[in-house]
Amino acid sequence: MTPDVTVIPERSGTAFRLSKGAALTVIDPNGEQVADLLAYNADDVGEVISSGRTLDYAETIRLTTGDKLYSNRSRPMLTIVADDVGRHDFLLTPCSIDTFLHFYPDLPPHRGCFGNLAEALEPYGIGPDQIPVAFNCFMNVPVDGETGKLRVLPPTSKAGDTITLRAEMDLIIGLTACSAPDSNGGSFKPIHYKIDAG
Ligand SMILES: [Zn+2]
Repeated sequence: MTPDVTVIPERSGTAFRLSKGAALTVIDPNGEQVADLLAYNADDVGEVISSGRTLDYAETIRLTTGDKLYSNRSRPMLTIVADDVGRHDFLLTPCSIDTFLHFYPDLPPHRGCFGNLAEALEPYGIGPDQIPVAFNCFMNVPVDGETGKLRVLPPTSKAGDTITLRAEMDLIIGLTACSAPDSNGGSFKPIHYKIDAG
């Protein structure tokens, strides 16, 4: 691990500023681990990453290098500039205690990415009701083109795989090491990230 890499321990999350022009690289150090990513305009947190806008403009749910992630105000927030995996999800909300009660009633409930993001974003004045669908790095959610049925399968990411996104405005980023069993191949691993100033 290089010194400029920050570790997000398993089943936790963080938030930080990302300046316009800087590049955020999200690293899956062990493979098969999801990282939920949120973005807010650092100058006005009412502007937030939008799955609906992004998928509409991209005309695909399979976002990868060259695609932009848009805000609710239709402005580019992030551009994917490198991607080892090519399989991410932008359909599903962060896992939460309700996710655990719904899908895993026999497991001890966990506050999940939603609870981790809510705590990490609170110092920036961002409340839980301002948490939208996250861009879920490395999350593998195939959709049956005929029936529309979704599945949540283990990520296809291998140890050391990365995705890099360039900030198109000054941002507050929320980022997790996801807590849901099915999303992560049944085990919980850390996520690493690094920031390269533009
Ligand atoms: Zn999660």
